[in-house]
Amino acid sequence: MAERSDRRWRLATRAVRAGQRRTPEGEHSEPIFLTSSFVFGSAEEAAARFAGERPGNIYSRFTNPTVRAFEERLAALEGGEACVATASGMAAILATCMALLRAGDHVVCSKAVFGSTVVLLETWLARFGVETTFVPLTDYAAWEAAVTPRTRMLFLETPSNPLTEVADIARLAELAHAHGALLVVDNVFATPVLQRPLALGADLVVHSATKYLDGQGRCVGGAVVGDAERVGKEVFGFLRTAGPSMSPFNAWVFLKGLETLPVRMRAHCENAMAVARWLEGRPGVRRVLYPGLASHPQHALAARQQSGFGGIVSFELEGGREAAWRFVDATEMVSVTANLGDVRTTLTHPASTTHGRLSPEARAEAGIGEGLLRVAVGLEDVEDILADLERGLEAARRA
Ligand SMILES: *Cc1c(COP(=O)(O)O)cnc(C)c1O
Repeated sequence: MAERSDRRWRLATRAVRAGQRRTPEGEHSEPIFLTSSFVFGSAEEAAARFAGERPGNIYSRFTNPTVRAFEERLAALEGGEACVATASGMAAILATCMALLRAGDHVVCSKAVFGSTVVLLETWLARFGVETTFVPLTDYAAWEAAVTPRTRMLFLETPSNPLTEVADIARLAELAHAHGALLVVDNVFATPVLQRPLALGADLVVHSATKYLDGQGRCVGGAVVGDAERVGKEVFGFLRTAGPSMSPFNAWVFLKGLETLPVRMRAHCENAMAVARWLEGRPGVRRVLYPGLASHPQHALAARQQSGFGGIVSFELEGGREAAWRFVDATEMVSVTANLGDVRTTLTHPASTTHGRLSPEARAEAGIGEGLLRVAVGLEDVEDILADLERGLEAARRA
């Protein structure tokens, strides 16, 4: 019955109610099942559960009711048949690759993905015979040219970090399917509130729940969403064996996070738009990157593909690294941290932190200048955010 209602409900209702199954205690909010294992009523029942003949929990590395509630709620939000929760966003990407790729397979991946995703593919999966070609996110000819008969997966993030480039998911899904490959979308930046890749043709969605799904910077976690066969059987099969599963406590925190996700994302979008508009044309600011601005190269695509433009605004200062560091050091309220998707506004200098491991040439080629700053706009009063950014701008101009 829960599943039938899930399908009828609209997004905000799913965020609040999907996946909840009350126990006979009648609790209103979801309980935390902080238990590593589960007891069986009889030897016969234990055998039946182990044999998979009867549903039910065995051990929390496999399944747990609190984790299942989070999985069902996120699946309902993304419009997927199945979801498996993982210990982190990287564990979600690892589980997807381990379950669906084998030696000899080839992956085409956007260059503009999370740094650890690049390292995972380039270093670790390469050891097991999986080869990856990296292409510029919005160069569709490069995607097409990179596909080989062995290509099994296309992987991307949109909007990208930190340049907020937007790629056409439906177009890349078509390319993947024409070659018998899967399209996997990391939906961390947009969240299912603003973008539902499965409805656009993607086969799987991966998440770092650490970001907007939690929204308050408390727990590390992740998830994979997709069809029942690939996610419910294959990715789940890897997870239950290899063990990077989500803790029930973290699942409970993320469940609470999902309840306010639609409201928070709308507020993030509103504040980010105000910040982007305010930054545009200010002295000392060379360019502002936000998909909601008419000046953004993929503004029209973002408006079509997303129901909001997100909370991440990047901008390039005149004066390079010195100006950017003066900006960072002059702020008083925003948090100087690499995290994002938090109610607190965070500020990052990508060239010296998240992208500091790249060579200066690779950074320049990726478009990450020394004067670039990324703001993950939070939910403080926008006037206080702007006042703090004004302090930064004044310092940046003070050569
Ligand atoms: C943070 C992040 C990840 C990795 O998630 P963790 O929870 O830190 O493992 C993957 N993709 C994107 C876009 C991220 O921002």
